[in-house]
Amino acid sequence: MTADANKETLGFQTEAKQLLHLMIHSLYSNQEIFLRELISNASDAIDKLRFEALSNESLLESDPDLSIRVEVDKEANTVSISDNGSGMSREEVIENLGTIAKSGTAQFLESLTGDQQKDSQLIGQFGVGFYSSFIVAERVEVLTRRAGSAVAEGVHWESAGEAEFSIESAEKAGRGTTVIVHLKADCSEFADDWRVRSVIKKYSDHISVPVLMEKPAAPVAAEEAGEEPAVSEPEFEAINEATALWTRSRSEVSDEEYTEFYKHVSHDFEEPLSWSHNKVEGKLEYSSLLYIPQRAPFDLWNRDSTRGVKLYVQRTFIMDDAEQFLPLYLRFVKGVVDSNDLSLNVSREILQQDPAVESMRSSLTKRVLDMLGKLAKAEAGDDYATFWKEFGQVLKEGPAEDFGNKEKIAKLLRFATTHTDLDTQDQSLEDYCGRMQEGQEKIFYVVAENFNTAKSSPHLEVFRKKGIEVLFLSDRVDDWLMNHLMEFDGKHFQDVARGELDLGELSEEDKQEHEQLAKDSESLVERLKAALAEQVEEVRATSRLTDSPACLVVGDQDMGAQMRRIMEAAGQSMPKHKPILEVNPRHPLVEKLDQEADEDRFADLAAIIFDQANLAEGGQLEDPAAYVARLNKLLLELSH
Ligand code: ADP
Repeated sequence: MTADANKETLGFQTEAKQLLHLMIHSLYSNQEIFLRELISNASDAIDKLRFEALSNESLLESDPDLSIRVEVDKEANTVSISDNGSGMSREEVIENLGTIAKSGTAQFLESLTGDQQKDSQLIGQFGVGFYSSFIVAERVEVLTRRAGSAVAEGVHWESAGEAEFSIESAEKAGRGTTVIVHLKADCSEFADDWRVRSVIKKYSDHISVPVLMEKPAAPVAAEEAGEEPAVSEPEFEAINEATALWTRSRSEVSDEEYTEFYKHVSHDFEEPLSWSHNKVEGKLEYSSLLYIPQRAPFDLWNRDSTRGVKLYVQRTFIMDDAEQFLPLYLRFVKGVVDSNDLSLNVSREILQQDPAVESMRSSLTKRVLDMLGKLAKAEAGDDYATFWKEFGQVLKEGPAEDFGNKEKIAKLLRFATTHTDLDTQDQSLEDYCGRMQEGQEKIFYVVAENFNTAKSSPHLEVFRKKGIEVLFLSDRVDDWLMNHLMEFDGKHFQDVARGELDLGELSEEDKQEHEQLAKDSESLVERLKAALAEQVEEVRATSRLTDSPACLVVGDQDMGAQMRRIMEAAGQSMPKHKPILEVNPRHPLVEKLDQEADEDRFADLAAIIFDQANLAEGGQLEDPAAYVARLNKLLLELSH
């Protein structure tokens, strides 16, 4: 290494600095994971090299045996992890070890609470990675050389994990990366051979390349001869299983191994909820190992966040994020697919057109849906509830995206309903159907901005009175979901705020009464129509309400109010459809209105009733100030 060697000292990106700080302080009780993370990175770098070497064999130089070496030095109090993988160029080092490129990092950091217990979970969600070395290190050195570059083009990076790092050119004989962790005084256990072995054994059995450590010396012979032991090349031995885990048969793989492998592929800190490991033989040959995480990644809603599975072809890593193998609504699934049929130089473009991929996608999709079905049926534990809380909203995109699996997906959906009146989405459509009343033909639902608005919607009054269950839909995607779900088990879905209320047989006995009521309120309805001509499409006497004076109803074909709000919030201007106003002629306020002879006062009261119907369903008034003024006028008249 030459002295000038264009050494630079650079500051960590602000987000990287924050994350480093948090990691060091939140994960101190879980120190050993740094080894897992560094070995996982080394294994990824080897996968990457193996892939690049498919089209450029010279990258393997004279060193084709890919492996990871872990060496400890008690005196120096260091542990180092070396790989002969892809290595990094100077630019890559600065980019990868000085910044955090993941989109959404800033929002992620804002979401941290300062509570170490909670934050350590959140950090796990983010993926701890390379920076975890600073949990145990007072200083970390990285020596790396990109495969294919000259020996003199190595890079030396060093940092004490505070504000800055230094970087300079260095010679490096072999390609790949060595990370030297200079341990803090109180972390010297990680310079101990046996301690490190046991950690690696615990975390890295599934790593498909050998993780080597120096064979313990057999000092007996030298001592007996009374001589200094001969200086010989140390011998290394693999301390992990080093076969691709998914190629092994299910009965040979322990739950712990499945779990560790999950952490490796997903960069997740927590255990998976469930997995499904399969080998398919026949016309198409492939293995798959797919996992359902326990927690949504911090960037689940970022459009460009990584998703999907890792693709291998005949054990060789081909690409991360192979989104062609699963639909978008299953983007939370992690794992690997290893095909025996695809070509090693397959590209994303080819994947898109390959009918074999299409067929794999369809069976992998079924696998995941079946795995979720099993999770949902499991008697013990609340894994499905956990799943639903984290990923339910994503799964709700399913019926729109994957018409063929609509029924399967529908069975997996969970809702809050009037059955419990709780803000917990835990009722299935099968549960609902099991509780349907005799003569009930439809599955009823109410859509609102949030749970409370849904729960107290005036539209529910008649349903509550008759004890008919209604689903509460208040997630953003719900209107979209319902537009595609259409029916379940042969029963149509019906928005309780849409069209004429028709309870079929259930309202047979009320029909006459309602017809009478409608007749009696004809003149009131006409007056209201005239007074609210600008605002409403129609006015009619309601059969929906028991306690409220009025509610708004959407035409059968019109866009729902929630959908409209979402589209408008997204900057789309929507054609306005005027709503239908339904009034409850038995309500004292409406009775009073009917008796109002003064046309101005009638118009004011009518406008208030209309605005209130809008407010009650979570809508926004076009002219809130006018509403307030009218209401105040009435209040003042009261006090006179
Ligand atoms: P992650 O692995 O989640 O992307 P890390 O912080 O662990 O995050 O690593 C950041 C990046 O640094 C990696 O994505 C990779 O590009 C690079 N990197 C880390 N370790 C190595 C290594 N041993 N060899 C080559 N590149 C590496």
